[in-house]
Amino acid sequence: MKIYVAYTGGTIGMVPSEQGYVPDAAFANTVSQALVAYQPEHEFSVHCYANLIDSSNATPADWQTIGEDIQSKWAEFDAFLVLHGTDTMAYTSSALAFMFQHSRKPIVVTGSQIPMVKRRNDALSNVFGAVDALIQGPQGVFLFFGGLLLEGARARKVNTSDLQAFQSPNFLPRGTLGIEWNWRKMHLPKAAELIQVPPMQAGVVTLLPVFPGVQASHWQGLLDDKVKGAVLLSYGAGNGPDQNQELLDLLKAANDRGVVIVNVSQCGTGAVAAGTYAAGSALVRAGVISGADMTFEAAFSKLHFLLGLGWQEEAIKQAFATTLAFEIS
Ligand code: ASP
Repeated sequence: MKIYVAYTGGTIGMVPSEQGYVPDAAFANTVSQALVAYQPEHEFSVHCYANLIDSSNATPADWQTIGEDIQSKWAEFDAFLVLHGTDTMAYTSSALAFMFQHSRKPIVVTGSQIPMVKRRNDALSNVFGAVDALIQGPQGVFLFFGGLLLEGARARKVNTSDLQAFQSPNFLPRGTLGIEWNWRKMHLPKAAELIQVPPMQAGVVTLLPVFPGVQASHWQGLLDDKVKGAVLLSYGAGNGPDQNQELLDLLKAANDRGVVIVNVSQCGTGAVAAGTYAAGSALVRAGVISGADMTFEAAFSKLHFLLGLGWQEEAIKQAFATTLAFEIS
């Protein structure tokens, strides 16, 4: 198998500096040697990005860069490994899942909580597990971390310190790696591979946090003229304050000017069922659509992806009622 490895930055390849950990290009060589020693019968090509980043600095343009990079190597390689920081890994894996829908080749994103330069680390166990998933596992876009192979558009970082830092709260892992792999058998839809890497522009999508006492003035700046999509982080099953008319008017005005507002629960597990409570119905009346059981990372990147493709408001709203990359149950 020919495996392309995109090293984009992240803790996995970081070294200490006076300001704290920073990415290091030398890791590309280290990981390349480790991969060849681990799987000598396979061919690896490690590409070190010119601008290695802490993924906290990632923007939607970086998802586009990774997508274009993989797309340009599509014919030449059988499988793709993306080495990435953990902080925004779930956004990137979601974006890639939308860009490479029903992919006939495996793409796995991974990284580590402890840099490889530390004597005890989780770097190689994650890299080797991800490579095993590429070689033995299913086709599609996944995030591998701490023994779990998660659907790219379902994963979330849930722990700052555990080595099992990612979960997929509303979807079972596709595989779990112990001594051997334990694969989940899934009935997959017969859909054609669809690869689309649209331009992605920072600032077109925003998050709207609901919190006790939230005021319209808090959201006004977030809903500026550039914004075309928003993920509303609601309470429980999709509720927000229905007694704050100014806030509801602001949402309605944004919806009327074509901003697609998607309701995702702050709970992280379970689905939005807005309309169960009056406090949720008010959001529906203001034009907010349901994000069902999507993660907010997936909702955010799905909006970016569809807006990047140039889809119009109604088509985007309809796309949120269907699943493109296993992101909705
Ligand atoms: N701040 C780092 C990053 O996201 C954290 C990590 O990789 O674990 O790049």
